[in-house]
Amino acid sequence: MDKLISLAKRRGFVFQSSEIYGGFGSCYDYGSLGVELINNVKKAWWKAMVQKRDDVVGLDSAIIMHPRVWEASGHVESFSDPLVDCKQCKKRFRADHLLEAASMKPDLEAHKEPPKSIKDIVCPECGGELTEPRNFNLLMKTFIGAVEDETSQAYLRGETCQGIYVNFKNILDSSRQKLPFGIAQIGKAFRNEITPGNYIFRTREFEQMEMQFFVNPKEADKWYDYWREQRMQWYKDLGMKDEFIRWRQHSKEELAHYAKAAWDIEFDSPFGGWKELAGVHNRGNWDLSRHGEYSGVDLSYTDPTTQEKYIPYIVETSDGAGRAMLAFLLNGYEEVETRSGDEEAKHEKEVVLHLHKSLAPIKVAVLPLSKKEELQKVAHEIKDSLAEKWMTQYDETGSIGKRYRRQDEIGTPYCVTVDFETANDKKVTVRDIETMEQERIAIGDLGEYFREKLEK
Ligand code: ATP
Repeated sequence: MDKLISLAKRRGFVFQSSEIYGGFGSCYDYGSLGVELINNVKKAWWKAMVQKRDDVVGLDSAIIMHPRVWEASGHVESFSDPLVDCKQCKKRFRADHLLEAASMKPDLEAHKEPPKSIKDIVCPECGGELTEPRNFNLLMKTFIGAVEDETSQAYLRGETCQGIYVNFKNILDSSRQKLPFGIAQIGKAFRNEITPGNYIFRTREFEQMEMQFFVNPKEADKWYDYWREQRMQWYKDLGMKDEFIRWRQHSKEELAHYAKAAWDIEFDSPFGGWKELAGVHNRGNWDLSRHGEYSGVDLSYTDPTTQEKYIPYIVETSDGAGRAMLAFLLNGYEEVETRSGDEEAKHEKEVVLHLHKSLAPIKVAVLPLSKKEELQKVAHEIKDSLAEKWMTQYDETGSIGKRYRRQDEIGTPYCVTVDFETANDKKVTVRDIETMEQERIAIGDLGEYFREKLEK
């Protein structure tokens, strides 16, 4: 993990927020490569969930909504995590996480058998006694307008899906969709997490990619199975290794009282093993019933063919963009023996970041073999023409081995080298990050060549 964090900082994927002020708790900024990667994660999600489908449409709702939304959703009353403190070392933990970890891997020294409740657990850091759990509300508050009192209090959204529920009727009336259909949204969410950490895994400000699929209650199970399969396949299609992700079903105790079923996709993290990456939930008719009740607007649906009237069930798919980016980075990080030909670093391990081409921040790097003007000129022309379509980088500094190495560690799938032969044969050498094969391609064919490689 430390190696990945250091690479991510050195190459401009992720920075600690407000670093020159000493950083700000669990907030991160995405640098010039990080913003490309997270945007590509979001693009890939949108393409699979909206662009390629007839039965899902998009939405971008406001971050700040009517405070009643959060009363109806149950967040004001119970969007809380159970917090425990160690009486000895004063460290703070989430009781549910401690229970989950101890139940999965009973620590034979401290707890002879799986714990029944938090009372059976001691501090995992120092073995000290823990306090009783206290509930801590995660909603972030703000004030709207000039006066800061209870009447002006509002919330930064704790999840993006509430914006979807309150627009269900608007979308239904304006998009000519019929059930079953879905609404997708990508956007920021805020939670006053009590135990943030593990880098960008758990932050207080993060981005969610959520899709709510509205169905006839009789068909909810069928759609639930369907969306579970789709979401897992999405990660696999983007290169997630089989051994790196898995399903986990929520236990009865974990299930929200209204939820009919909930499964998480987990990834094998270097910070304490399997961790939640995404969720697929059958939320029943809780959301539309509650918003109907609190707003006074009827959110039921009448089937235009059968005239059957019902409150739709919702199958939700919920993914974190930052968490997905972290998982793709961890999944793709590999240290290898020298392969770039970088003479100066012959004895060091090299990093190769295996990213799916659609996710790679830079698609093509253009490298003139020397700083001779005629090579630079051709290389710039190639770079400018490819940049019309793809994120490209021009690099003329250092040996060619060093430059290959720089591109390998940020996951650039292709390097184009302009050499001394180029002036004669009007061809360049294209190197593939995965196969390391080099091909001689005519400059005039590069556009078609990369279209084939990057877009098919
Ligand atoms: P956890 O148990 O890890 O707190 P959760 O079950 O509360 O997560 P959901 O409310 O289901 O998470 O949110 C859906 C997705 O949003 C998660 O699977 C995760 O990818 C992302 N997510 C949730 N909380 C955070 C956070 N604090 N930082 C980054 N991503 C988050």
